[in-house]
Amino acid sequence: MATMIPSIGEKRGKQIVYTIEECMSCGEKKKRAFTLGDYVYKKGGQCNKCSGSILITMIYAEPMKATQ
Ligand SMILES: [Zn+2]
Repeated sequence: MATMIPSIGEKRGKQIVYTIEECMSCGEKKKRAFTLGDYVYKKGGQCNKCSGSILITMIYAEPMKATQ
């Protein structure tokens, strides 16, 4: 009797979570790897361009591509 419960992650493949940071002053966007504790609208520090405040505007997961 086979169990039909798929193990999590086996079918969907691996995913990488990204964090998008956006400068509230000049609109500069930055994509970086998600780190623990990130959440949308969290303050992300200072913009390199204009020293404006940076806010996390998006967090999303992308499937890891095996392109090699
Ligand atoms: Zn800026």
